[in-house]
Amino acid sequence: MSQILRTSLCVLAITTCTSLAAFGDEKLRVVVSIPPIHSLVAGVMDGVGEPTLLVSGGASPHSYSLRPSQARALNAAHLVVRVSEQMENFLERPIENLAGKAKVITLSEVEGMTLYEPREGGLWEEHDHEDEPAHGDEKHHEHSKGTEKHEEHAHEEKHEEHAHEAADPHLWLDPQNAKRIVNVVSMTLQKTYPQHAKAFRANAEKLASRLNSLDHNLQAATQPLRGKPYIVFHDAYRYFDERYKLSPAGAITISPDRPTGARRLSEIHKRIKSQGVTCVFTEPQFQPKLVQTLISGTGAQAGTLDPVGADLPLGPDLYFKLMRKLATNMSACLKNPS
Ligand SMILES: [Zn+2]
Repeated sequence: MSQILRTSLCVLAITTCTSLAAFGDEKLRVVVSIPPIHSLVAGVMDGVGEPTLLVSGGASPHSYSLRPSQARALNAAHLVVRVSEQMENFLERPIENLAGKAKVITLSEVEGMTLYEPREGGLWEEHDHEDEPAHGDEKHHEHSKGTEKHEEHAHEEKHEEHAHEAADPHLWLDPQNAKRIVNVVSMTLQKTYPQHAKAFRANAEKLASRLNSLDHNLQAATQPLRGKPYIVFHDAYRYFDERYKLSPAGAITISPDRPTGARRLSEIHKRIKSQGVTCVFTEPQFQPKLVQTLISGTGAQAGTLDPVGADLPLGPDLYFKLMRKLATNMSACLKNPS
């Protein structure tokens, strides 16, 4: 890596700068897509090196585009860690272009990972089944505005067909999956940098035990929240809900990066009343105004959940803070008598 390139990259982002400055011959070149995964990888690499993060500062991984500097960091990487092909769409081509130069861990394909399907029906995502005309009609109705209809529709169908076979990508929100992530990252790092194998193994063991106690604490913290219906902004929390046996009633958005139609909003407003929903959770990266409209006159309260830890300082502790914050924010809203 030339000095000129390093300097120009340093202007763009501190995290990129730190890691790339460390990209000497001896240094570890590990690139990770999103903050919670970056946190777990950073924990395994603790004391040895720091991974480079791609999607930071509250950007949505569902609609990210890679900066040229990040494309270059990827190109120089020894190891790339991503969640799934669907989660980080923006990585599909760059990873193809790596042509085997770097090892790539795709977490959704790791053996033993607990995976769930995206939720359907009720207030969850409605898929475009050919044999269910009601769904098709609604879709058509919602997207009949604008001149790019045909192009957009064709793209959507292709996307959904693709997404339909794929698991819900938010797999890190179960601490047992986090342990699996730590394990596969540690094993791969040991092979990639055998000179640091001992440190990776020790860090991974320490993390596994921290993750077990986190899981234990979260079981206790979420126990009083069982059976209390709430609505989330996008369907990101299934792994958390399943692990802790919570009772979500649905999601506001069909897709986190598409505006929600008036018809859906009024349907949700009705459900909040009819199902006794006490909390509607927004996310830091999405517009909160919508939530105020939804809860007005229902008695439900608004809260915030953040599935990626956009506001948290990067590093090994981010994952733990993110998980505890989910439980704390849920408790704060759901325990409130309305
Ligand atoms: Zn998501």
